[in-house]
Amino acid sequence: MSAQTPKEHPQELVKKLHDLSRNLWWSWNFEAQSIFSDLSPHVWERTHHNPVAMLTEMSGEEVVARLGDKEFACRVEAASIGFSDYMRGEKTWSSSHVKLHTPPVAYFSAEFGFHESLRTYSGGLGILAGDHTKSASDLGIPFVGVSLFYRQGYFEQRIAVDGWQNEVYLSADPEKLPLEIVVDATGEPVRCSVDIGFSTVYFHSWRLNVGRSTVYLLDTNLRENEERFRDLTAHVYGGDSTTRISQEIILGIGGVRFLRAMNIHPGMYHMNEGHSAFLTLELLREQMDRNGDIGTAASEVKRHCVFTTHTPVPAGHDRFSKDLMDHALSSMSKSLKISGEDLMGYGRINPLDSIETFCMTVLALKMSKAANGVSELHGQVSREMWKPLFHHSAADKVPIGHITNGVHIGGWLNAKTVRFWVDHLGKDWQEHYMDAGFWESAAGTKSISDEALWALRYDLRRELVEFARHTLRVQHSRFGNGVAVYDTVLNPDVLTIGFSRRFATYKRAPLLFTQLERAIDLFNDANRPIQLIFSGKAHPRDDEGKRFIKHVIDLTNHPRLFGKVVFLENYDINVARHLVAGADVWLNNPRRPLEASGTSGQKVAIHGGLNCSILDGWWREAFDGTNGWAIGGDKPSSAPDLQDYLDAEDLFSVMKSQIVPEFYDRDKRNIPGRWIARVRRSIATLVPMYNTHRMVAEYVKKYYF
Ligand SMILES: *Cc1c(COP(=O)(O)O)cnc(C)c1O
Repeated sequence: MSAQTPKEHPQELVKKLHDLSRNLWWSWNFEAQSIFSDLSPHVWERTHHNPVAMLTEMSGEEVVARLGDKEFACRVEAASIGFSDYMRGEKTWSSSHVKLHTPPVAYFSAEFGFHESLRTYSGGLGILAGDHTKSASDLGIPFVGVSLFYRQGYFEQRIAVDGWQNEVYLSADPEKLPLEIVVDATGEPVRCSVDIGFSTVYFHSWRLNVGRSTVYLLDTNLRENEERFRDLTAHVYGGDSTTRISQEIILGIGGVRFLRAMNIHPGMYHMNEGHSAFLTLELLREQMDRNGDIGTAASEVKRHCVFTTHTPVPAGHDRFSKDLMDHALSSMSKSLKISGEDLMGYGRINPLDSIETFCMTVLALKMSKAANGVSELHGQVSREMWKPLFHHSAADKVPIGHITNGVHIGGWLNAKTVRFWVDHLGKDWQEHYMDAGFWESAAGTKSISDEALWALRYDLRRELVEFARHTLRVQHSRFGNGVAVYDTVLNPDVLTIGFSRRFATYKRAPLLFTQLERAIDLFNDANRPIQLIFSGKAHPRDDEGKRFIKHVIDLTNHPRLFGKVVFLENYDINVARHLVAGADVWLNNPRRPLEASGTSGQKVAIHGGLNCSILDGWWREAFDGTNGWAIGGDKPSSAPDLQDYLDAEDLFSVMKSQIVPEFYDRDKRNIPGRWIARVRRSIATLVPMYNTHRMVAEYVKKYYF
């Protein structure tokens, strides 16, 4: 950044600051981010890192006065130039893959996780959608996202004193978010409608700028709607199946209508999971208006749709009864000039089977030119599961492929990690996320010394320990007494394991504690102890998952585990960002093959963390024996109880015989040589592969253009 004198008038700089705050680009640009956090570290924390809320709260006078500081003004100017350059996107990856003026890809997803200040996500599916959008922007892919504006979002988790999860819903104020109502040429909000049953439901839309990508969030909270429809889009996956089908009608059918109202004609519609599959019916209706024959219309629709499935169990797919479909989609079947029974056929494996319910995944599969699972193993599982739909007895003939998920590395970086890589690889290191050769050499001893890598690990572990202490103090202060004890929990010298994800029971959070005495010994080893940080939410209606949380909370209060096993409340993108940076080992022990891909483990590699995981999802193809650890082997699973037992045994054995000794065996410099060698392998093999740049590039080459 040049320290030249700012040429701008203060008011123009204020405008630049506001412009920066209104595009989420800042959330993966550290210079821009630090401008906001430096404006007021306290307000930054209190607004949950939300520049728009900050600038609404601070007086204009203060902001102008602060910009009187020359150095600060220069930083704003430099960030603003960086932002403009980015938005022009002159030399992006796509320039050699996508023709100018190519129609955009429309990516439909029931949730998007972009940043902790926008609670429009519940878990991995949303995070993936958010990361996909950011990478599409970085790569220069013409891209629009479509979702719903969940005013109350997903819940905030509060753990009661007895360890039970309570859910709190907070209403978002769009004025304090980087959202704008989409308006037409006359300045009037663009309004569209869909029919749900016998009612017409109106919606408008909020525009969210994510770098060069635009995301439209549809919102039914309008006065002209009947009371019961105003809150339709209030919660992520809210309510019963009537609410759900209504949300999916807004998302799919409403989404396409909204794009048309905006005169956007995507070249490809990408359904991220089946929730948005009704979009294919709206496209079908449009095609039939042009060409009456439904068969021809359907093949035309198919040419423009692709589908990514995420669910490896039959019960996980959205299904609706004939009654509900007849009611909710009556107007659609009329427009398509087909009977309710015929419409049902689009969502049935066997269209004539009047017992079969309507499955959104089946609709999506029938109406897409291509479909994929999200890891190699999940591709296999999906082909097996959907054999009957394609009338094949051999799973390998089923036309479902796979594109393994990734993460948008830039959004998961820690400031210290950024500084580390800039120092070692130079300023443009982030341009090389897809370059395996670059990371092979970056991870080598010529580019980073053992000492530097170990220093980074210490730095990040210390930061996580302090974040955990702070969080625990805040969360326990609600119970009144004695929070000082949390100032000294955890130990920055100790091997730190992270376990954070949704508390779905198949993820088996308490697996390590199934043999409690052995676990206690591991945590309390005088010379080679371990510590474990948990975090995660259970779905509001998942009491089994909530019991897992309570069990973990009870463990954190066990006299011999207190301060060594902790649970951080309210897992979100912010908590995740701290954890994936600071954890030495990222533990993942789902019941195979239920983790379709998993992505949280992919976030640790860039920080020098290591994965220890069941060979499920992405890890099954990423693990090579040198870049982390595997548990459970690569073989079909046994009965669940036996599998849990065997996996727990194996986890113990890997911990005791490999992970703990490799972390604590130190050389003369007090550096764990074998550990560091594994970290280097993890960086070299995982960083260039398991990121959304590679993933989006694969979607581009296979499907999009
Ligand atoms: C990455 C991430 C997930 C996905 O985690 P998995 O372990 O892959 O299921 C879920 N929630 C948050 C907040 C995340 O950051």
